[in-house]
This record gives sequence, structure tokens and C-alpha cells, in this order.
Amino acid sequence: MAVTEPAPAAPPAAYEGILRRQAMRESAARTYARSLPIVPVRARGLTIEGADGRRYLDCLSGAGTLALGHNHPVVLEAIKKVLDSGAPLHVLDLATPVKDAFTTELFATLPREFAENARIQFCGPAGTDAVEAAFKLVRAATGRSGLLAFTGAYHGMTAGALAASGGAEDVRVTRLPFPQEYRCPFGVGGERGARIAARWTETVLDDPKSGTPTPAGMILEPVQGEGGVNPAPDSWLRRMRDITAARSIPLIADEVQTGVGRTGAFWAVEHSGIVPDVMVLSKAIGGSLPLAVIVYRSELDTWQPGAHAGTFRGNQLAMAAGTATLAYVRENRLAERAGTLGARMLASLRALAADHPCIGDVRGRGLMIGVELVDPEAAPVDGGSAAPPDPALAVAVQQECLRRGLIVELGGRHSTVVRLLPPLTLTDEQATAVIDRLADAMAAAEHSPHRRTATGSIR
Ligand code: PMP
Repeated sequence: MAVTEPAPAAPPAAYEGILRRQAMRESAARTYARSLPIVPVRARGLTIEGADGRRYLDCLSGAGTLALGHNHPVVLEAIKKVLDSGAPLHVLDLATPVKDAFTTELFATLPREFAENARIQFCGPAGTDAVEAAFKLVRAATGRSGLLAFTGAYHGMTAGALAASGGAEDVRVTRLPFPQEYRCPFGVGGERGARIAARWTETVLDDPKSGTPTPAGMILEPVQGEGGVNPAPDSWLRRMRDITAARSIPLIADEVQTGVGRTGAFWAVEHSGIVPDVMVLSKAIGGSLPLAVIVYRSELDTWQPGAHAGTFRGNQLAMAAGTATLAYVRENRLAERAGTLGARMLASLRALAADHPCIGDVRGRGLMIGVELVDPEAAPVDGGSAAPPDPALAVAVQQECLRRGLIVELGGRHSTVVRLLPPLTLTDEQATAVIDRLADAMAAAEHSPHRRTATGSIR
């Protein structure tokens, strides 16, 4: 959807000043702002307009938050309704009609078998806080402390906070291999690689000499996002469910990024049919405002009152925006739409790969898409078949995209996976425009004089 009236462009000195002051005042740890020197002033749907008057197609979507794109009318309407009603904006975790409606709508979208017997905990308004809550929950319920997680996983930034608060001194994480098709840790890929990965998990749990006592829980992403868009095979997810269930280990599905239709199902666990014990939800559930919850099997609800407190767990505007978003995605079958459009985009990108040897792999599920960039002239690493990643090329592609008015994110182990997370409301025409701009950017970057090899020499 295009922004209807262009905002008057601010004089270059104004927005350049904003960017300059940001670089001077903000932390060295700032992230997106480094690669995207944009000063957004208006946005609608897929489009962001900068203070310089330029328009961008936004395929970052607030790191996968904006299921309906920017400022969708149903979201704005829901927010205005709360504001106009005189309802309190800050209520801690008290019951309100707005919260009640959110919980009802959320439970209506969840897999029935799960929702029928589930509890919800409202968390501090970030995915990472909900992840912390999930860990606390399963530790309290099992009396165990260790956790199982997977290579390439991303679950947030706050483990340090928990440790510093004395809540996690003895937490140990055993990292297990995530089955990757393209860079399979076992060098075989496909179903066979996934079977070996599952077998390894089973061995670690059953071998009394593995050094891993029975853990409090296992956490996984059905499609790894920040890790480089790695969809877990459904068969492997079912194995993880069986393995954990057989050993009474709660399975935590982190659907912070995959939820609300993004992967072609309302919740990504539905592809494999597994029912997890805990689901961690954030990003899209707040309809672009901050909101995070965990939903879990009620038998796990043995933690103490106040076990996961927090001042900002009652964001009424986010709950209203979230209710509107969940209902809109459900009523308009946007998950299905993400599935079909995503498959079409993957096919176009694979066709593009045929002309660009620097595209090592194209993968994804629904509208969670990754294009891994490699150096096709360098020898494959460690005897594998995949060419080495090309971080400099990835940066060049991202910059060329920006020059063409396309915002993309980089992810993966070496930041060499171009990630597309467009809104689920993306039209066919917009999808074509995105792919065309990416193809142009790719061609330009391949010939860019700034492209360097990993060793730093200019090609
Ligand atoms: N889990 C997953 C799967 C995520 O993708 C993210 C954020 N990218 C998080 C957790 C953390 O969420 P937040 O940044 O809101 O803390």
C-alpha cells in the first residue's frame, strides 16, 4: 500500500543533523541504525517514508513484528478506540475488558488441544522477557535447572539480567545440533541429517556419561529466524516432541518470530502437528506495540505468585492492537496467503539463483525467507559442498537494496543471509517489486568495487 500524500521532504540539513546526532549520542551497540541510515517520518503497509522524502519497501517489518505492515487501519482504529474510551493506560496486571478480549482472541487462534488446557502469563513487553519466564516456569515445575537449546538459536538478550539477579547461577545450557539442510553439521543434509541430529539429542539425554543431567526444558524455534532462516523439518520437530515427552521434559516453542501467520500456518508448530508444553509469543501479537506472553499447559502452573513480576505487563494499547491484528489475520486467512505467496517468492528467488552463483541457498517458510550469499569461487569449507559465506557481498547487497528503496535485514552465522520478512498483507505486485529490486541490487553488488573477499583483498 503506498503512502497517499508524500510528506514534504525535510531540508537535507535537518535529517542529516538527526542522523549525525544519533551517531554522536547513541550507544556503540546500536544495531539497525548502522546499516539503515533512514529517518522514518511516515509509514503505511509495506512503505516507509524517510525525512528525505524517499520511499522504501520495508521487508524488515520491525524484525518480523508487523504482520499487517505499518499503521494498518484496523490497528489504528483499535488504538484510537481505547484512547477515546477513557480507559486507563497503565494497569499493572489487573483485569480489564481490553485484556479479556485479547486473551479470548489469542486462545481462539491457538491449536485447540493446547488452548483447551492452557494458562497465560503476561510478561515484560519483550520477547526475551517471555523467554526468561518460560525458563523459570519449567524450572519451578520440574525442580531441574539445565536447559537444552540448539545451534544457531536466537531467544533474546537478557540471560545476563537473570544471572545478575541471582536467578540463574546454576543454569547450564546444553547446545544440540539444529538440523540444517544447506550447511548440515554432519555433511549429509536432508532427512538423514535431521535423523542424525535427533539421534544425537537422544544420546545426550540417555547416556549417563554425556555430562547432561535431565534438563528442566528444551527450547526451539520452529523456523530459526536470526540464525539465518532455517526451517526445522516437521519430522525432526515430531521427534523432539516424542523424545521430550518420553522423558517428561517440557518442550518450549519460541514462536516470537514465527507466530501469527508468518510461516503459512497461524502458529508454526501447526505444520508438524506437535503440541508443545510452552509457547513463547511476542512481536506480531502486539500489533506493532510491545507485548509478550507465555502460554503453557496448566499442569506446569506451579510457580509462586509474583514469580515473574514486572511493572509493564499491562500495555492496554498493545493488547487492543494485538487483538485487532490476530482477528484480522484469522478472518482474512492471511496465514494461508503467506504460505502461497511465500512459495511463489521462493520459486522466483530460486530462479534468480540460477543466474547468480553467489546465491548459495534460498530457503524459508511462508513469508520468512532467506537468501544465503556465498563466494562461489572459493573452495567449499571442511570438505562440505557449500561454498564459504561472503559477508562483504551481503553488506554490499543490503546497501544496493537500500539505494533502490528496499529495506532488508541480514542474518545467519556470518550475517550472510539476506532476510525477507514482509507484511502478510503484501500484494502480488509488491512481491514482484521486492524481488525485482533485490535482483537488481544483487547484480550491482556482484560487480561492486567495494566487494572484498573474506581475507580483505579487493576482487
Ligand atoms: N525469540 C525469537 C525467536 C526472536 O526472533 C527474538 C527477537 N528477534 C526474540 C526471541 C527476542 O525478542 P525481543 O527482541 O523482543 O526481546
